[in-house]
Amino acid sequence: MKTLYFNGAVYTGALPLVQAFVVEDGLFTFAGSDTEAAAFAGPEAERVDLAGRFACCGFTDSHMHLLSLGSALAAADLARHTGSLSDLLQCLRDFDRDHPGQGWIRGRGWNQDYFSDVSRLPDRRDLDSVTTARPICAIRACGHCLVVNSRALELLGITADSPQPEGGRIGLEDGQPDGRFYDNAMQLVYDAIPAPNKEEVKDMLRQACRMLNSYGVTSSQTDDYCVYPTTLPWETVNEAYRELEAAGELTVRVYEQSNFTSLPELRRFVEAGNVTGAGSDLFKIGPLKMLGDGALGARTAYLSRPYADAPETCGIPVFSQETLDEMIGYANRQGMQVAVHAIGDACLDRVLSAYEKALADCPRQDHRHGIVHCQITRPDQLEKIQALGLHIYAQSIFLDYDIRIVEERVGPELAATSYCWKSLLDAGVSVSNGSDCPVELPDVMAGIQCAVTRKDRSGALGPYLPDQAFSVQEALDSYTVHGAEASFEEDRKGRIAPGMLADFVLLGENPFTAAPETLQSIPVLATYLGGRQVYAG
Ligand SMILES: [Zn+2]
Repeated sequence: MKTLYFNGAVYTGALPLVQAFVVEDGLFTFAGSDTEAAAFAGPEAERVDLAGRFACCGFTDSHMHLLSLGSALAAADLARHTGSLSDLLQCLRDFDRDHPGQGWIRGRGWNQDYFSDVSRLPDRRDLDSVTTARPICAIRACGHCLVVNSRALELLGITADSPQPEGGRIGLEDGQPDGRFYDNAMQLVYDAIPAPNKEEVKDMLRQACRMLNSYGVTSSQTDDYCVYPTTLPWETVNEAYRELEAAGELTVRVYEQSNFTSLPELRRFVEAGNVTGAGSDLFKIGPLKMLGDGALGARTAYLSRPYADAPETCGIPVFSQETLDEMIGYANRQGMQVAVHAIGDACLDRVLSAYEKALADCPRQDHRHGIVHCQITRPDQLEKIQALGLHIYAQSIFLDYDIRIVEERVGPELAATSYCWKSLLDAGVSVSNGSDCPVELPDVMAGIQCAVTRKDRSGALGPYLPDQAFSVQEALDSYTVHGAEASFEEDRKGRIAPGMLADFVLLGENPFTAAPETLQSIPVLATYLGGRQVYAG
């Protein structure tokens, strides 16, 4: 059965816009003018009048955490209650009242920079004022820091004498645990929280997919194995996805950024047949994903010099150079793609050096290894990224918050050469876009606005390095064409062209003619996956 979508403003992945396209059996089979498309579709075709509306390919979020999002949707939503510490605590009290029991209260999304009443991180005593009867774990928006109450510390057995874990820190005040856990130390807490079972995982994924569809996202490159790393094995995550796929309930195409922290684990995964590209159009194994450092907000991104606003620290590298070399070298030899989170420039140095060694040892034509985030950079590193042929997983939406802190944190010199995604694009590097959700909402139009304006979402701050702004077309491509390149699927999706998967969105306004500062308010009217409507606004 052919369906003709006509009388629209259709961005196919190239300009000029066309009016119409045809879908058959889940694929685009034609794109062009109304007359041509009608002739191609024939008189029997079903006809859908787009009434002048804008259509483009479904969006790819090239780095996020789908299961974490689902898990966050089943926890207290602290991101909406971070205007003050007292608001945050009230939100947790309400959650406790609405979800009575003995189990953990989980919440995520606070950021002390937005507190109007205090200017510090919450601590154990704050959370004790919510309850001491059951454990609480409240994760910062960045995911690199969390705070627990005294009941949780008791369950965890954390005392003043507990050893500090490598690549992380247990917060202390006057020698006593203050309830704060940074980076690798957070694992101690995660290990204590019981993991959901497979049915609960499927429920979380269903909800998360529904949310993505509402923002026009039809493909997610997602890092899921680290949500409950010791209690929820990757096998269960994969089974949950495959069962959802078999039941026709997976409404987002998933490319799993397979997160491993040790070579034996990675080896077991690969030897079980999990290599990049294995799977179907709906669930596929993606790259080896590694987390190289922390985040800028929490001052755990690993810098080549001390933080300008905290000279006692350069941040925290998660892996030694040896471990990076070993794991990236192995993955590269096995034909796996690799994607490493690097926010600070010192972390980027290590990752680039590991890629250089791996590719010298075993050269590959089309490896598509990449850097996730790629925020704090120096010009020499941008050149190396191009020379190595790396892919960049950018998050333009990070500008919304980071504009406030980047210069403060790293100083004017590094700030002047950071978030340089346009320079990379101009140098021929493939730059995709995403949200790192649940760090940020998977709000593509807001991401497009930040990419184009280089300002925060309100428009009050910035522009930050305006010569790094994307055009609207470049921004759209970063969420479509280049997103597909990140998963080796540019011949399968990312454009409206014959033979491509019919994933598309209808928007309330044409972003090419909208004022840049209004892009984020363009509504997603409908989202289609393989020609099937999965969201209607
Ligand atoms: Zn991430």
